[in-house]
Amino acid sequence: MTVTFFSTKSYDREYFERRNSDHHILRFLETPLTEQTAQLAAGSKAVCIFVNDRCNADAIKTLNEKGIRLIALRCAGFNNVDMAAAKAHGMTVVRVPAYSPHAVAEHAVALMLTLNRKTHKAYNRVREGNFSLERLTGFDLHGKTVGVVGTGKIGSVFAQIMLGFGCRVLAYDIFENQELIAKGVRYVPLGELLSASGIVSLHCPLNDQTHHLVNAESLKKMRPGAMLINTGRGALMDTRATLVALKSGRLGYLGIDVYEQEENLFFQDHSETIIQDELILRLMSFPNVLITAHQAFFTDEALSEIARVTLQNISDFEAGKPLENEVKIQ
Ligand code: NAD
Repeated sequence: MTVTFFSTKSYDREYFERRNSDHHILRFLETPLTEQTAQLAAGSKAVCIFVNDRCNADAIKTLNEKGIRLIALRCAGFNNVDMAAAKAHGMTVVRVPAYSPHAVAEHAVALMLTLNRKTHKAYNRVREGNFSLERLTGFDLHGKTVGVVGTGKIGSVFAQIMLGFGCRVLAYDIFENQELIAKGVRYVPLGELLSASGIVSLHCPLNDQTHHLVNAESLKKMRPGAMLINTGRGALMDTRATLVALKSGRLGYLGIDVYEQEENLFFQDHSETIIQDELILRLMSFPNVLITAHQAFFTDEALSEIARVTLQNISDFEAGKPLENEVKIQ
C-alpha cells in the first residue's frame, strides 16, 4: 500500500524503512498535515501522522477526496484527529496504543529529578570551573507524597517507579487499577490528590473532560511550593494560569515535555529565528521550569515498536483483517 507520511524526521524514515518487511511504498514528507497540505497525499491509500499534525475536518475532507482510506497515527494520543469527521467520511483511524510506557514514565522521572537536584545547572557550573554548591539544594524523594493523575499504561509505570523511591503514591483516575492498590497506591478524589501531594504528574489523555484540568482553581488547591510534571498533553494545563502560579511562587517547580502551543515550535530548530511565542519565552525565563520538546517517547525501543505496530496496522487494514488498534468513537 502507498502511505504518505507527514511531519517526517530522519529517525522516522530510518526506523520505518528498517521495519518495512511487507514492502509498503512509503512516501516521506517533511511538511505537517494541515487542511492546505492534505492534497499532497494524493495517490496514497493511507496517511501516517504524528502528534502535531492537524487532522481536522477540512484536512479529512481533502484526504477523503484524494482517495485516502486510512489514517495511521504513529503515536498513542489521537486528540489531533477530528474523529467525528473521520467517521462521517468512512475513514479508518488506527494508532499505537502502547509502544513503551517505560520511555514516557522514565522521562517524567528525569524531569522530576533534574528539577529537584538541579543536575542541569550543576553540569554547566562544573564545565565553567564553578564547583560551588550554593543554591543547588534539593530534597529527598523518599517519604514524599506523589500524586499521579491517570493510571493507565504510563501512569501505572510511573507510580511503581515512585513506590520504588519510597514515596507515598496517591492516584486519581476514572478507573481504579487494582494491581496498583495491591502495591500500596491509594486512589483519592482529584482535589485531595492536589492538596496532599508535593509532586503531581499528569498521565491522562487530553479530551473534553481533561482539557485545562490544571487551571487557576486547581493550582490554588496544590500545596505551596509543589512540583508539577506534565508529559501528557499541553492543554491538560492552562499555561497562563500556571504562569501566574509560578510568578507568585505558589507553584514551586514545573517540568513539561508538552506545551499547549507546541505545534509551531516543537520538533524544529528555531535557534536562529526570533521566537514569537511570548508564553513559552516567559516560561523559559524561570529558573524552576524545565522544558523538553516532546521527547518523552524518544527511545530506541519506543521508535522500533512505533514503526512495527504502525506498519502492522497498515498491513492488517490492507488485508482486511480485524484492526486491533482501531480508534473508534460511539
Ligand atoms: P492509557 O489510555 O493507558 O491511560 C490513560 C489513563 O487516563 C486511563 O487509566 C484512563 O482511565 C485515565 N483517564 C481518562 N480520562 C480521565 C479523566 N478524566 N481523569 C483522570 N483519568 C482519566 O494511556 P497512556 O498510554 O498511559 O498515555 C497517557 C497519555 O500520555 C496519552 O493520552 C498521551 O496524551 C500521553 N503521551 C505522551 C507522550 C510523550 O512523548 N510526551 C508519549 C505517549 C503518550
